[in-house]
Amino acid sequence: MKKILIITAALLIILTGCNGEGDEPEIEMPEITEEGSKITGVNILPEKVLAGSGEKIEFKVEALLDDDTKIDITSEMNFRSDTDKIKFEGNKALVGEETITGQEHVVIAEYTGEEDVNIDLYATIEIFNSLEDTIDENDVITNPEAYDMVVNKQRNLNADYVPEDLVDLEVETCLPNPEINQLRKEASDAITKMFKTAAEEEGLELVARSGYRSYNTQDSLYNSIVNNHGQDYADKYSAYPGQSEHQSGLALDITAASVNYQLEDIFGETEEGKWTKDNAHRFGFIIRYPEGKEDITGYLYEPWHLRYVGKNLAAKIYREDTTLEEYFQNKER
Ligand SMILES: [Zn+2]
Repeated sequence: MKKILIITAALLIILTGCNGEGDEPEIEMPEITEEGSKITGVNILPEKVLAGSGEKIEFKVEALLDDDTKIDITSEMNFRSDTDKIKFEGNKALVGEETITGQEHVVIAEYTGEEDVNIDLYATIEIFNSLEDTIDENDVITNPEAYDMVVNKQRNLNADYVPEDLVDLEVETCLPNPEINQLRKEASDAITKMFKTAAEEEGLELVARSGYRSYNTQDSLYNSIVNNHGQDYADKYSAYPGQSEHQSGLALDITAASVNYQLEDIFGETEEGKWTKDNAHRFGFIIRYPEGKEDITGYLYEPWHLRYVGKNLAAKIYREDTTLEEYFQNKER
């Protein structure tokens, strides 16, 4: 039997599921009664959920009655989200394809049952594109164009992968090879802003040294190191073709006059290197290979190697003082 709600008063309910900032709004419950029972609260479930591209999440809204029972009022709610990346079909959210891990989107559920009752409930969908879902049986990553993609010694870029939106860098560069003076558009725009800000705020002059590198360039580089120094040396100091983040067009090695435009550990102790470590996340970059994390990232400390992941994810990785690998592993658990 369908339960009938008798609404006797109209009041606004705001439950802050999504942000803890500001004053807690006063929650006044409308006097919705159901055959004599009074509703004492409403819940949206799940209130916070991790979901990746292509996933569907079903939301439910339940009303709590003063006799400790619950009734499902999902069908009387209208669901929407604050982004076009999440589309609703009734109470089911479909997460779109171009999402970035770390983004948080708000889901709003509005009561549609009675005109004079106003109930808004909020939930959060935190984007998480898991590592398992983005690799095929040959250890080739399936989302090379995603800003949150992870390439490392276990996860390869396809030999054919070339980003579609490479552009010439607008910042100062120090090597003549046109290929490496490119990045993907969004990463290039971000580095332009970052270098400009470093100059304006602190008078620091940062210089780009090496950005995009094709599979073939990495292949020649790796093989020349093997020929000159042997395989062990090459595996320690260079990336195997397909495993270089530079092929993604989202990685850039930066330098400065204070280290003679070279890539040296000492860059991390220069004013330019320290500013970069503390500020790169503001522009969507992380220091991809931090000191002491060699066992996790598979690469030695590289204070000069920046990776674009977008501002949300970069800020989280910076705040948690973690690595890209650990961020995914910790969420996966
Ligand atoms: Zn690099």
